[in-house]
Amino acid sequence: MRPHETKTDCIILDHAGLTYAHGFVDMPRIWTLDGKPKKKKDDALVIGVHVCEGCFCAYSKAEYPNACPECGFITKRPEPPQVRAEGELVELNADTMALYKAKRQQQQREERKAARTLEQLIELGKQRGYKEGWAHKIHTERKQWVVNRHG
Ligand SMILES: [Zn+2]
Repeated sequence: MRPHETKTDCIILDHAGLTYAHGFVDMPRIWTLDGKPKKKKDDALVIGVHVCEGCFCAYSKAEYPNACPECGFITKRPEPPQVRAEGELVELNADTMALYKAKRQQQQREERKAARTLEQLIELGKQRGYKEGWAHKIHTERKQWVVNRHG
C-alpha cells in the first residue's frame, strides 16, 4: 500500500474474504506501537462492510446505505415496528424496575392465556422471537394438565 510516483490505482484481490473480518483496506485506522489493547473505534470501522445480495460485492454501508454501488441492488431493510403507546416517564430504580418486571410478567401471562390453540401459541412465540418448541412445550403442558385433572 506504499504510494508509487507513477501509479494512481491499486487493485486488491481479497481471496480469503479478510474484508469481511477486518474492513476495507482504505478505511481509516488508528495504529499504535504502545502495546495498548485495541480501541473500540477500530471495531466500529469494521461494522458496515456489507455484502450485496445481487452480485456479492463487498461495500461500505456507510457510503452506500441504500443500494449496491456495483449492480444497484436495493438493500432490503426491515420496517421498524411502529409502536405508539401512552406512557409516563419514571425514574428507574430497584422499586420501579421490580414493578415494571411484575407488570410485564403479568401481561405475558395474559397473552399466553389468550393464545388458546397451538397455532395461536406459535404465532405468539414468533412475535416474541421464541423457537417453535416453546409453543409445543406449553401446548403439551396444557394437555397434560387436563389429563391430570380429569384422569
Ligand atoms: Zn451488487
